[in-house]
Amino acid sequence: MLSGMGVSGKIVMGTVIRLEREQLPDMEKYLANTGDNTILISPDLTVKDAIKLEQYPIVGFVTEKGGFNSHLAILARKLDLTAVLGVPGCMDFIATGDHVILDGIEGNLVVNPGKNAVEHYIKLQRKLEEDQKQINSYAEKETVTLDGYHLTLMGNIDDISDVKRVVKSGGEGIGLFRTENLYAKRGNLPTEDEQYEIYVQAARAMKGKTIIIRTLDAGGDHRIPYLDLEAEENPFLGCRGIRFSLKRPDIFKTQCRAIFRASAHGTFRILLPMLSSLMEFRRVKNVLSLIKEELDVLGIPYDKQLKIGVMIETPAAAWMADLFAKEADFISIGTNDLTQYTIAADRGNKQIANLYSNYHPAVLRSIQYIIQCCRKEGVTVAICGEAASDSKLLPLFLLYGVDELSVSPSRILRTRQQISEMNRENFNGLLTALDNLGSIEETESCIDAFHALSN
Ligand code: PEP
Ligand code: MG
Repeated sequence: MLSGMGVSGKIVMGTVIRLEREQLPDMEKYLANTGDNTILISPDLTVKDAIKLEQYPIVGFVTEKGGFNSHLAILARKLDLTAVLGVPGCMDFIATGDHVILDGIEGNLVVNPGKNAVEHYIKLQRKLEEDQKQINSYAEKETVTLDGYHLTLMGNIDDISDVKRVVKSGGEGIGLFRTENLYAKRGNLPTEDEQYEIYVQAARAMKGKTIIIRTLDAGGDHRIPYLDLEAEENPFLGCRGIRFSLKRPDIFKTQCRAIFRASAHGTFRILLPMLSSLMEFRRVKNVLSLIKEELDVLGIPYDKQLKIGVMIETPAAAWMADLFAKEADFISIGTNDLTQYTIAADRGNKQIANLYSNYHPAVLRSIQYIIQCCRKEGVTVAICGEAASDSKLLPLFLLYGVDELSVSPSRILRTRQQISEMNRENFNGLLTALDNLGSIEETESCIDAFHALSN
């Protein structure tokens, strides 16, 4: 049995197709004639490659690289594909044509399983199917704990085609519309009208529920070839997110004008990624005021109350959460990046996957501080990183006082079920217990102990 990080899906059984790195650009050639229940094994996959998997009868994939909060893992969760990442040596031990059982929950991979293993996993599959039926009954319910704490549970999307997944799962809004795909899946910049159409389409589908559009977060691992981003030695610390937008106000203004125009047809908010200073926020607000003036002059309708929010995902912004909370209309905590920047541990690097953890005390303290600052100012605060659907962390976020959570559509119902079965009183004392803990291992076992007692 091989092991890695189970990042999504269920338990699937299938036949392997193994693709070397050099074969990936020609993936179509190798996957065109694959049969049902194919499991792809490869050293690494880019998000761009992985998106193509939807066209083939692939039920799961395994890579040597990748971490739990990498964009590849996020995509796998969105597509509801079973995925195990960071399996060392998977390319050495598995051949095309091998039969495998892939467990996307525990992160296990059984190659050419015997009868006992197959029977064991079939039993587990049945149990998961039963659980799923239970979970589906939460589609129409509100999100409230047993002790009456209400919050808004929304969905993260990165393509207009995902909106239906949020609606189907009873999402109470779109808490994070990642817009990089709008740019990355084509060869030139989308026009204002093209973007406007997409946002209006989302508004129609969401029927008045909130849609939070994150402006283009170019850079980092989001390479958009035609933008001619300069090669950087450290792209994650480079011209990313708002830094790029302020350098290319033409691209930024086009996107924001499209959002403002769409706001006449639904409830929109604008969310700004990767801020590290208040000055960036003020500069953006100036650009947005100019857009509003232009729309006013032209008599183009838009929502005059449209809220502008800041994503807190750098330690710099976290430490200034008190000031951001005074100037922003809402705050959304991007725990994926906040974790990588706080610990200085790349979110996609499997070599240091043991260091990258949302349970790091510095990460949890940051989240707590940001939420405290927002509550003090009466500003809505959300968590939109992958941690938002971590069942073990949920009680903590509720005790901190979070207002909104935004999670992958495939996790909405499960998260609602977990919140509905939770009583915050069972976690009295947890915050104090965490106060003196200084490592990932200690915080995790402390949280585990509270969960064990609450059951
Ligand atoms: C985050 O950083 O937590 C986040 C939600 O943004 P992304 O994963 O797109 O970087
Ligand atoms: Mg981010």
